[in-house]
Amino acid sequence: MKVTFPHMGNMYVPIKVLLDTSGIDYVMPPYCTNEPLELGIRHSPEFACLPFKTILGDFIYGVDNGADFILFAGGRGQCRLGYYGDLQAEILKSLDYKVKFVCLDLTNLTPKEILNRIKPLTEGKSILNIIKGIIYAVKTVYMVDNLNELARYTRCREIIKGQTDRLISQFHNLAQKANGYKNISDIINLTKKSLRQIPVDKKYKPVKVSIVGEMYVSTHPNINFQLEKKLGNMGVEVQNNLSISHWITDHFVRKLLPIKFKKEPHEAGKEYMKTNDIGGHGIHTIGCSILSAKNNFDGVIHLYPFTCMPEIIAQCAFSEVQNKYDIPIMTLIIDEMTGEAGYMTRLEAFIDMLKMKSEVATTNN
Ligand code: SF4
Repeated sequence: MKVTFPHMGNMYVPIKVLLDTSGIDYVMPPYCTNEPLELGIRHSPEFACLPFKTILGDFIYGVDNGADFILFAGGRGQCRLGYYGDLQAEILKSLDYKVKFVCLDLTNLTPKEILNRIKPLTEGKSILNIIKGIIYAVKTVYMVDNLNELARYTRCREIIKGQTDRLISQFHNLAQKANGYKNISDIINLTKKSLRQIPVDKKYKPVKVSIVGEMYVSTHPNINFQLEKKLGNMGVEVQNNLSISHWITDHFVRKLLPIKFKKEPHEAGKEYMKTNDIGGHGIHTIGCSILSAKNNFDGVIHLYPFTCMPEIIAQCAFSEVQNKYDIPIMTLIIDEMTGEAGYMTRLEAFIDMLKMKSEVATTNN
């Protein structure tokens, strides 16, 4: 069987490592092109949130290109994510695609249940290679996020503009063609080494912006108009609170440890939400904004797809958060109709305001 999977930021890198190591055949949709998005928009309900459409587009692309198995890590909860899998499977059926669709709720299934559901894919494969694949994939998640951290540091400080972008784009070109953990980790290490050699202005004090919001749009550069790259090239240092490694640490690693950790952003967000869950990353969004203010960030950019219920609720708390914690927050709502020019104008105005605010504060001190 040949599996296909949807893109979400850099997630394709560890997924490739997992599938290559396990010996599972796959079709990877193109990274950062609009073709799957257009397919998804054509076949989705108009008011579905953007991730639904892009993910469906990736599936259709994969099946059109030879995949007969879809693996989707969905979930349950208070928002529409809970019915993504069923609805997408129905749409594919109505389009006459003969494909096995497996939706895994990773936060609720035991490893045995997961292995049972993906049995058609793993039949005849070495269990040892599958275990190795999982371990390597998790390691790759952290390595790729670490690489991105470094790129965020160099991009806003580099003396010759564009060097970081060139290396990161070269990394993606190589990673898409690479096969297996060794190959990928060599490419990551080589890119890191080259990033460290970029001449940077160590005295430069960038304004610092924290990205919060819905995970898919916040981590997927093709959907968020390359937000991190744009900010970095404006001389802004970015912290993205929605990385895959954060998610794995919160949902899996910490659960395995004997010490119980409090989820800091979640606890902070509860100041404005007297309930444990409003779906998606809603409470996390509020909490990260508060923590960003406490950690001396200059501003917060809140990203979410049009009609995203948890983030609309979170946004309601922002006027209070801005006043109480004295941090400017700008919300950007994205769908397939969002124009890049308008998005850029708002972004530039926000960053100019943060830079002026920071200059005034430095002069007054
Ligand atoms: S978190 Fe928002 S964008 Fe994601 S599935 Fe839920 S409603 Fe849709």
